[in-house]
Amino acid sequence: MQNTSFSKNTPLVDYSLPNKCPYCGKDLAIAPDTQASYVQPYLFLIDKCYHCSKPILTVYDSVSNQTALSFPLSSPQPFRPEIQELSPHYCMILKQTLVAKELHLDSLVGPGLRISLEWLLWDYLTKLKNISAEELKHKKLAARTSYLQNDLIKLICADIVRIFGNDTIHIFSDDKIDEDAALLAINQLSESIAAEIILSRVHSQR
Ligand SMILES: [Zn+2]
Repeated sequence: MQNTSFSKNTPLVDYSLPNKCPYCGKDLAIAPDTQASYVQPYLFLIDKCYHCSKPILTVYDSVSNQTALSFPLSSPQPFRPEIQELSPHYCMILKQTLVAKELHLDSLVGPGLRISLEWLLWDYLTKLKNISAEELKHKKLAARTSYLQNDLIKLICADIVRIFGNDTIHIFSDDKIDEDAALLAINQLSESIAAEIILSRVHSQR
């Protein structure tokens, strides 16, 4: 959504706000008392969500005429309902990890991606494939992927093992994870699992 600053002694600018409130997730409507202050060339604007009253900070660069920073960030792409239902831990941890990435909290991103991945794979195997938690508990990532039967998912997981290494969460001493590749692979995995769920539903209705 758009808003216009209107306080005295600040330039008048149109600036963008998220469409959904990053806190409560409702369609963003802002309370009518935007706070603004100007420290050249930046205009600092604080809006409040009408629904939950929480603040959204925008820093607007009056030289380049664009938003320099918005906090908190708008919610990442919503997860597919099939994935939310299968693995709420995955969704929660990945969401937090993406926020950490945007905020350049780099030490948290690699482990966050790794834990979110562990949850997605765990829930897929235990809930959808009925493999017992007891059996999986002490296995490493590569050994867990050997239970996979869907070839596409198996292929994606082989990439994931290459990107993350095979150990469970550990101190990432020397190796820096290629975060973009990791994120891409995790998204592919999530999409493939969602596709499997949706298609099996279609087949069972026939
Ligand atoms: Zn809100």
